[in-house]
Amino acid sequence: MYEIKLTEQNTIEQTPLEKSLKHAYSPYGYCYDPQSPSLMRIDDDTAKYVVYIFQQFLSGYELSAITTALTEMGAPSPNQRKEQLGYNFKKGHVTDYWSAGCLNSIITNPVYIGDHIYRRPRLPKHLLERIEDLPQLPSGTVLHDHHEAIISKDEFERAGILLRCQTEAFNAKRKPRKQNPTYRPPFCNTVFCGECGRPMYFKRTEHAGKITKTGYSCGSKMKNLALDCSKPIHLTSKLVDEAIIAVKAEREHALTVANAINSGVENECYKKADETIRKKIADILDQIIEIKICLNNLQSNHALTPAELDNQSNSLNSKIDTLRQEVEQKQLEKAELIAAFTSPNKWLALFTEIPEDFVFDRNFSKKVISRVDVFSDGKIEVHLLHETAKQQLLRYFDE
Ligand SMILES: [Zn+2]
Repeated sequence: MYEIKLTEQNTIEQTPLEKSLKHAYSPYGYCYDPQSPSLMRIDDDTAKYVVYIFQQFLSGYELSAITTALTEMGAPSPNQRKEQLGYNFKKGHVTDYWSAGCLNSIITNPVYIGDHIYRRPRLPKHLLERIEDLPQLPSGTVLHDHHEAIISKDEFERAGILLRCQTEAFNAKRKPRKQNPTYRPPFCNTVFCGECGRPMYFKRTEHAGKITKTGYSCGSKMKNLALDCSKPIHLTSKLVDEAIIAVKAEREHALTVANAINSGVENECYKKADETIRKKIADILDQIIEIKICLNNLQSNHALTPAELDNQSNSLNSKIDTLRQEVEQKQLEKAELIAAFTSPNKWLALFTEIPEDFVFDRNFSKKVISRVDVFSDGKIEVHLLHETAKQQLLRYFDE
């Protein structure tokens, strides 16, 4: 809302235009003055501290030393001063001490050399249109000599340069900490707690800008649930080792199967499976024929009452129906068998393409890992992708 609960200054009738050309409230070192065209004048009680801050800073004192000195000499902090002057304007809680942030905003504020940065009033369009003579200045235009300066331009510029250099030097010191933001965990949201099924969170420990330890821990830990599985942290390296073992084994397996299909042993397995199915079908057909013979015998058995005859033939007919369904089932199985051996298999394609010296990283794990379950006792279950495709093919090979 535009109506900020401000000061006595704000209770005076001001048009938004006036507000926009003048300071909405007086910055530290100034106070409200209705007589002044800028509505503010130098506040003798605090302007001396502004001068002190610039002088000390330019003499080479650190910001922290200046804040301590100001607090010790009883200089009211900017927030305190607002309160003393009866401003309702509060940003957060009122702090009675000086901080480096306070000094930073004072040293960089051009208000102290008499500049005012024009802000177009923030009002709805229809209200803006009603204001006559609203200057067509873009927000951010600097109005020089708007009010009396406290600090000379020369001092202000020197202090600004000094502060920038200090900040840069400080940031340069901190840089080593930021060297590893690109490190990404090797698993891509595929690690789960084997005990409770919650996703596991990735954790890292850093020392002197280097990641020293990474691991996974159960989501219940983040939610502070009192579960046993929330306690241990499982090292990433252990998970990766297990995953590599699993992938290697899967690769070997896939290669063996592919080899079997290519070297003609395929025919053996296929024939075997095919023969099993054909035998089964022949078996069922035999049973059907036997039942049909029984049915015929029933018809010629005159010792039975019509009711008994009905009953028994119904039961035999339903048996035949069941057996017919079994034949249909076997024929579907046969179609699946043909498909397994003739159409490309996802699982086979994926794991036979993996090179022997594969590197296990995040991208690789995305391609092959379906899910990793980690149990409290350290047991790790690695599930790989295309499990269904694998089973479809392997049922013909397992014997
Ligand atoms: Zn858990």
